[in-house]
Amino acid sequence: MSAPSSAPSEPDCIFCKIAAGQIPVRKIYEDDEIIAFHDIAPKAPIHFMIVPKAHIPSTAQLTSEHTALMGRIMTLAPRLAQEQGCPPYPNGGWRIVINTGAHGGQEVQHLHVHVLGGPRPWQWADGPTRAATH
Ligand code: 5GP
Ligand code: ZN
Repeated sequence: MSAPSSAPSEPDCIFCKIAAGQIPVRKIYEDDEIIAFHDIAPKAPIHFMIVPKAHIPSTAQLTSEHTALMGRIMTLAPRLAQEQGCPPYPNGGWRIVINTGAHGGQEVQHLHVHVLGGPRPWQWADGPTRAATH
């Protein structure tokens, strides 16, 4: 039997614990399906994550059952970016990132959408540990 594409929660998953309110975060948004909170180690002046509450390990497990959820997350991102102080498009803007797997630089194995913004330079080029000037 193959692994399910998503589960309500995984006992050892840090983002499942955050979604369940078991680990404190600087929360900026929450509804039945989604939670958004500031990254504990920001790589830009504004850096938060939008996270489905269900345990989906990565984009690799997305199926058509997640279309509406991912659509909601992607439309929430610009709204929250502006609420958090990102100057508007086109002179301001933000970066939306979903790391997937080892080559993608994914460290937490629960799907999450990074939103980064604010004045450059940032700490993030193609992954969380590399210095960036572009
Ligand atoms: P990934 O590399 O998996 O795309 O990103 C994981 C992100 O989660 C990292 O930017 C890391 O700083 C953040 N993170 C890890 N643990 C916690 C935590 O306990 N609280 C918060 N707010 N962020 C976390
Ligand atoms: Zn999880």
